[in-house]
Amino acid sequence: MGVPGQGRAVGAGGTADRDDRRGGTHTDPGDYRGGVHEEPIDPFAGDPADPANELAELDEAEDDGTGPLSTAEREDVLEDLADLEVYQALLTPVGVRGLVIECEDCHEPHYFDWDLLRGNLRHLIDSGRPRGHEPAYDPDPDHYVTWEYARGYADGVHDALADNADE
Ligand SMILES: [Zn+2]
Repeated sequence: MGVPGQGRAVGAGGTADRDDRRGGTHTDPGDYRGGVHEEPIDPFAGDPADPANELAELDEAEDDGTGPLSTAEREDVLEDLADLEVYQALLTPVGVRGLVIECEDCHEPHYFDWDLLRGNLRHLIDSGRPRGHEPAYDPDPDHYVTWEYARGYADGVHDALADNADE
């Protein structure tokens, strides 16, 4: 009579409907959002306080020329200070008050008293950079000599003393 066949057809149709609904649960938006924020995050990403950034800055500071003097530069300045003591001791008695130095910035001679020179060299050792030029006020150029003159004078005195010692 065809009635049982219709019953199977209705039953098969019903089964197909249930399968479609289960398929829909696999793409449930609720499940998908649940996994989005689970990635591992670098706690320092984009953070200026990242310890790695600080190390990089320290490396740069050693190369930009504004840090303390290198050992060799420091030795040079200490040598200048020692020379200065000798020049001052030898030249002060003959009326020399300090040295005249051709300024690299303004290309003019600047006159420095012994004390000022010593202060500038010590400042250079302490800070790693030369002090802005503050030459002696209204100096008399006759009372200042160049490093070269002072060195030659000291050498001459040294040689004279050596000659006297030989005789
Ligand atoms: Zn100058």
